[in-house]
Amino acid sequence: MRIGHGFDAHAFQEGGSLILGGVNIPHSHSLAAHSDGDVVVHALCDALLGAAGLGDIGRHFPDTDPALAGVDSRLLLRNVMDLVSGRDLSVSNADLTIVAQKPRLAPYIDDMTAKIAMDLMLQTDRINIKATTTEHMGFTGRGEGIAAFAVILLAEPEDG
Ligand code: MG
Repeated sequence: MRIGHGFDAHAFQEGGSLILGGVNIPHSHSLAAHSDGDVVVHALCDALLGAAGLGDIGRHFPDTDPALAGVDSRLLLRNVMDLVSGRDLSVSNADLTIVAQKPRLAPYIDDMTAKIAMDLMLQTDRINIKATTTEHMGFTGRGEGIAAFAVILLAEPEDG
């Protein structure tokens, strides 16, 4: 097995679309980023790349690339999955934690799980997504932005 960890955080900006785990979430603010700002998917990409020994998301998809402006992060995720599959590695499971004071994310977790499971070509019971606040402490607690953590386990091919 190979383990990987990912972390990402983005700051809020007024207006725009808040997208987390591929799901559009009604909110007064969105996340500022070169891409669509989906911190959940970015953390997951970094965990996948980390476990596969393939660096990080910035190396593969530089935020200076004009072609990636406003890109749907799920496209990046599917690209990362191709890289992982190309190394003959398969995903065992993923565990994600979103840190946000607002908005309340519980109603959207199932939808995020379904979308990410689809991109990882896995059953939904292999993907776990949690949301927590920081009880008003720190940058997420003050509502300055949202952070996400991801841990992933990849299986290497069995020796033949
Ligand atoms: Mg990011």
